[in-house]
Amino acid sequence: MKPLLILDCDEVILEFASPLARWLREAHAIDLQFRSFALVGNMHHMASGAPVEPAEFAPLLDGFFEHGQHLQAPAPGAIEALTALRKDADLVVLTNIPAAWRDIRLDILKGHGLDVPVYANDGPKGRMVKDLAQGRRAVFVDDLPPHHTSAAKHAPDVGRLHMVADATLRTLIPAAPDAHARIDSWDEAEHWIRATLEGQPT
Ligand SMILES: [Mg+2]
Repeated sequence: MKPLLILDCDEVILEFASPLARWLREAHAIDLQFRSFALVGNMHHMASGAPVEPAEFAPLLDGFFEHGQHLQAPAPGAIEALTALRKDADLVVLTNIPAAWRDIRLDILKGHGLDVPVYANDGPKGRMVKDLAQGRRAVFVDDLPPHHTSAAKHAPDVGRLHMVADATLRTLIPAAPDAHARIDSWDEAEHWIRATLEGQPT
């Protein structure tokens, strides 16, 4: 049985921050500029300058998943690296997206040549990482530190790679303390993933 590569989508396979900012500006006249690692608090209505309230946020994000996902380009090098890794590993996508918009994501990934299973998750990912790995040699890649903490707790044998594809965001997100490695470029990540799936110690 091939080893398993479990991939987050946003800021791992596909860009998220910059297409979200573009969609918010064009569809809602909202400005998003990351001065900290958060969405709420960094969003302002362009006409009034008023901050976007926390209660406004969930529907905006849903709107992006419904109408804006087509703006999400692959992270640099992602498709090339994953196409190469796929020869020796099974790939699955584990993404925190409402189930209603999962198929859009599936189709977009398929359009980039990644015809792979997409699991829509809600909340910490550790239990799903455990269920997907089922004791196989596996690597999990995500940009959000809490998911690495959760994976370390529930699936400690799975290799954990912290990656933040966006150049601005990566300066705002410190290395996840519960990941085995922090690598933001796909060129380098491909080597680490391959070595880890082949059984070299993390
Ligand atoms: Mg993500």
